[in-house]
Amino acid sequence: MSCFSVSLRSGSSGNSTFIRTESARLIVDLGLNGKRFAMALEEFDEDPNQIDAILLTHEHIDHVSGVGVVMRRHKIPLYTTLSTFNKAEALLGKIDYDLVHLIVPGNPFTVRDTEILAFPTSHDAVDPVGFRISSRYGDVGVMTDTGEFDQYAREGLKGCKAVYLESNYDDDMLWNGDYPYPLKVRIDSRSGHLSNFEAGQVACYLLENGVEALALSHLSQENNLPELALETVSEALQEAGAKIDLDVRVRVSERYHCSVPFILE
Ligand SMILES: [Zn+2]
Ligand SMILES: [Zn+2]
Repeated sequence: MSCFSVSLRSGSSGNSTFIRTESARLIVDLGLNGKRFAMALEEFDEDPNQIDAILLTHEHIDHVSGVGVVMRRHKIPLYTTLSTFNKAEALLGKIDYDLVHLIVPGNPFTVRDTEILAFPTSHDAVDPVGFRISSRYGDVGVMTDTGEFDQYAREGLKGCKAVYLESNYDDDMLWNGDYPYPLKVRIDSRSGHLSNFEAGQVACYLLENGVEALALSHLSQENNLPELALETVSEALQEAGAKIDLDVRVRVSERYHCSVPFILE
């Protein structure tokens, strides 16, 4: 047995992460269409009909676009906060309300025998959260779409063994790039996204608390490069005394493909 996790897609074109603990098969966000979703799972010999829950972080289209169709097609329960559900409902289409489970950030819940915690994040959505999924082999955290790493997120991710961590933009690329000024301000703000530099700081905190695997996720196509994210975060970790690949593995989640899985044993 083990705890298996993999990014199926990552970035503003669509996000989805699959996590299999000893007792549950979970999807965090589903921003790709039903066919691509099924094909992505097939790469890991997984069947969408066996998924126990979809966990939704927030209502933005790159996280929610496939949720409705996949819920209808495979009868998968959805776990999300009331505010996010209300905001996302129009994007879901007609769904079976019996499949909707409302959660409260800070109150752990279980899917099969797997305990899950939603913690608040800081983003321009109605009630955004990150998730911590417990497993016997180490906990998995997912935190993208957040402008800062505050006390809630620190507590939420403390001690996770594998973390899917936003590393959205490079400061120089953002500020020297072509985005209109208000958009640059939004991305950089406390309710925007984490930069590579900020991801490096978060990575060091997680390292101190036992993280073994980091997937740098939700990279901007315009304001970042995979090499740059990897370099910035790796350098921060090395400065904190870590040996990359020995103490901690660091990977970049791919935009249009499934990434290399993390397996905790
Ligand atoms: Zn997003
Ligand atoms: Zn978002």
